[in-house]
Amino acid sequence: MTLSAAVSSPQPVDAATVAEIFRRFEAANPEPRGELDYTNPFTLVVAVALSAQATDVGVNKATRALFKVADTPEKMVALGEDELREYIKTIGLFRNKAKNVIALSQMLIERFNSQVPRTREELELLPGVGRKTANVVLNIAFGEPTIAVDTHLFRVSNRIPLSIGSTPLAVELGLERIIPARYARHAHHWLILHGRYICKARKPECPRCLINDLCRFEPKTA
Ligand code: SF4
Repeated sequence: MTLSAAVSSPQPVDAATVAEIFRRFEAANPEPRGELDYTNPFTLVVAVALSAQATDVGVNKATRALFKVADTPEKMVALGEDELREYIKTIGLFRNKAKNVIALSQMLIERFNSQVPRTREELELLPGVGRKTANVVLNIAFGEPTIAVDTHLFRVSNRIPLSIGSTPLAVELGLERIIPARYARHAHHWLILHGRYICKARKPECPRCLINDLCRFEPKTA
């Protein structure tokens, strides 16, 4: 992951400001959704595993056809690594990803009765699945209040700042401590979407940002 932190403020915002930030995110987008297409927990795991260093749009283009023929671990293994590569060859690192998807499908069949496990520890046993992927799956498939820190969320958290950290894990644990429980389920979606479309890496769109008056990042764009 390429992380571009923009740490400009010495102190994170206070608890009342954190609550106000998420109140506004919720008011603007009560049911935020991720942008990866999937049809069940298994295809979600596959989609997230394929999305490393790739855009959601690019992954969706490839999985549209793939998930029609392989939406279970058994069907994925039957498809085989060579065929799978053909479906995902437009995605970066596709050779390694194809290997991992076949291996994780095999492990799901052999160790988890073909079901996607519901704990972070078990998910992280799957080839190609790290903490971020596990957090996405726990949150989206199983409704857990986990925070998956991608490059966008990492940048936004350090800019406002909500949780300041030099690693994704530090930011994740810091956010878990400060985000009010009622916002925890959707927090990572709001922050990722905010980073993707408003608080962009090179030129944040501060004039149209709904938390402009609460954010301490300087220099904001005019
Ligand atoms: S004001 Fe600017 S820097 Fe702060 S969160 Fe909004 S877009 Fe990002």
